[in-house]
Amino acid sequence: MASSTSTALQNGSPPQSAPDSLSQRIQIIDDTKTFTNDLNAQIERWGLRDAGFSYNVVAVFGSQSTGKSTLLNGLFGTTFDVMDESKRQQTTKGIWMCRGTGMNVMVMDVEGTDGRERGEDQDFERKSALFSLASSEVLIVNLWEHQVGLYQGANMGLLKTVFEVNLGLFGKKGPDGTNSRTLLLFVIRDHIGTTPLANLEATLTQDVMRIWDSLAKPTELKDSQLSDYFDLAFTALPHKYLVPEKFQEALAALRNRFVSKDDPNFVFKPAYHKRIPADGVAFYMEGIWEQVQTNKDLDLPTQQELLAQFRCDEISGVALSEFNEQTKSQKRPIESGRVVEDLGKMMKSWRTEALARYDRDASRYHQGVYKRKRADLLAALDSTLSPLFLGQLKNLHKSCLVTFKKDMLQGMTGEGYNFADVVEQAREKCEGDFAAGAMEAVVEEDSDSWGWEEELELLKEEMRSVANQCRKDETKKMVNLIEKTFKKQISEPVELHLNKPAPNMWDNILKVFKDTLEKAEKQYLAKAKSFDCTEEENDVALADIRQRAWVALRQKVDEQTTDAVILSKLRAHFEERFRYDEHGVPRVWKPEDDIDSVFKKAKDQTLEIVPLYSKISPADSANSWTLPPSASSLNSSEDDFDFEASLVIFTETKVIDLTNKFRRDADAYYVEAKRSTVSSIAQ
Ligand code: GDP
Ligand code: MG
Repeated sequence: MASSTSTALQNGSPPQSAPDSLSQRIQIIDDTKTFTNDLNAQIERWGLRDAGFSYNVVAVFGSQSTGKSTLLNGLFGTTFDVMDESKRQQTTKGIWMCRGTGMNVMVMDVEGTDGRERGEDQDFERKSALFSLASSEVLIVNLWEHQVGLYQGANMGLLKTVFEVNLGLFGKKGPDGTNSRTLLLFVIRDHIGTTPLANLEATLTQDVMRIWDSLAKPTELKDSQLSDYFDLAFTALPHKYLVPEKFQEALAALRNRFVSKDDPNFVFKPAYHKRIPADGVAFYMEGIWEQVQTNKDLDLPTQQELLAQFRCDEISGVALSEFNEQTKSQKRPIESGRVVEDLGKMMKSWRTEALARYDRDASRYHQGVYKRKRADLLAALDSTLSPLFLGQLKNLHKSCLVTFKKDMLQGMTGEGYNFADVVEQAREKCEGDFAAGAMEAVVEEDSDSWGWEEELELLKEEMRSVANQCRKDETKKMVNLIEKTFKKQISEPVELHLNKPAPNMWDNILKVFKDTLEKAEKQYLAKAKSFDCTEEENDVALADIRQRAWVALRQKVDEQTTDAVILSKLRAHFEERFRYDEHGVPRVWKPEDDIDSVFKKAKDQTLEIVPLYSKISPADSANSWTLPPSASSLNSSEDDFDFEASLVIFTETKVIDLTNKFRRDADAYYVEAKRSTVSSIAQ
């Protein structure tokens, strides 16, 4: 912070010479929009710290180079930088403050470049103007006479913005129900005099009223009037260089209004005072600046940003349309279910190209806008790529599953394969293929939007169900095979035993049955081990095997006990006893032979075996067999299988019927035997 007493002396001599510390100035807000830490100390150095309410604050508003600093220095004996015509030097941007010489007045001057030409400075211009308005009792609105009535030229647009935000931020009534009022003192510079001040005054008043009416006011303040917040005052100064004496005269008169309480137009009315003790001013002002800084209403996009938005949109649009053209080529194949080779590589290159195109042209524009629009573009690119990616995963899933099924079937051909191994191999290959394909299609790693684990889980699930189905089919086939083998194995021995109607006939048959069944069960379990069958599945299959084995035995028995077969068995049994003697020699009946008793014995012995055949019932109960009860409960489709009933081969009526039929046959043998004795007598 350089103090510059030389400029002050050069431009409007100070009314009183002041000690250095009193004429020191301070930059309260610098070009990075930071509020100084030093204001409190400076107020103390100015000797104002203990002034209580006995001080005033004045600020200035107006376009660049309208002689504002000159005016302030002239009025208050301050030391603000004045533009040197010969050098046209740039002054440091910011808000400056000086103590008025010989008076308890804090004077603020705003330095800045002209905001309308350089977009980014509009922000500073607005904020500094709002700060000046909100923190001072009197705001000097400085303008050339020829600017009167010109909306743009006189910064009226800026005034509108500032009014609007000021009302929103600081417009509420104070705790005592009154608004804090501010005097807007219009100082018309280079007043020639042809247009009377009154006319200029009217024009300006009208302009300000119009601005006020056009404000977007907060709803609770929509009926507020300009006069609720502001007083307007007007004055004119002649040309400083053309009529210097008159200028100085007018300046002195104006100065009097700031100094002399006796002046009827004294500007610092108590109503304008913010009622902040002098030692609290620094803190108070810093608070206002913070509110101004954080206010979003002031953050209008700068020209640069507006331009950047427009251009970045355009550039992004071009990049996107070229990109869309490229992606279109693979949309169809994906939708038709194909796995597109190198899709990931293509997608990555389209995406990179599109971003590169955008970056090349857009990165030169406002960085904030460029980055924001880049993120938008990226989101748009990814939202196009994402369905391709997901489609690819779906197709990959389908094709991998087809291969899995094929591999399973192939692995299960021939004898001696291990089912579990076949499944494991096919599964490993399928998962590997899927993962490889999926990873290829990923556009951006470590990003949630390109995940494929979920699809893999679905695939695993389906593989499990395919493998399960295969296993069930295989088990069924195996059980069928076991059944077939079983039938073959019991056929002959059972037939043999049935032809030997002895009391232990069923014992023998059941022994064969049980031995063969045991072998069948072992055969099943050996194979099932490789199938990864569950305990329950094994139980069901074994129950099935047992039941089928039993049914097979019954079928064999049925086949051997049809009417014709059983009758021939009975006949054979009878013949053996009737037509052959105990040595197996055929009998030749002689008239003295006791045919009747031989006949009766043979018949009775034969009739005895009919009940033997009628029920599966071993002589020794240790040899009996029953279908385990679990079978019917587990094997729901065969629920109604009645094992007890299946033990019965012939019903009571059937026994009677067979007995009758056999009797007739036996009678025929008897008659034949009798006849043969008659014929031997006849010889
Ligand atoms: P600021 O940018 O508004 O603070 O203006 P300055 O006070 O720095 O003055 C800008 C230029 O206008 C300087 O060259 C001054 O000499 C000149 N100037 C100051 N006051 C007057 C005035 O009343 N009339 C004219 N025509 N020029 C002035
Ligand atoms: Mg200036």
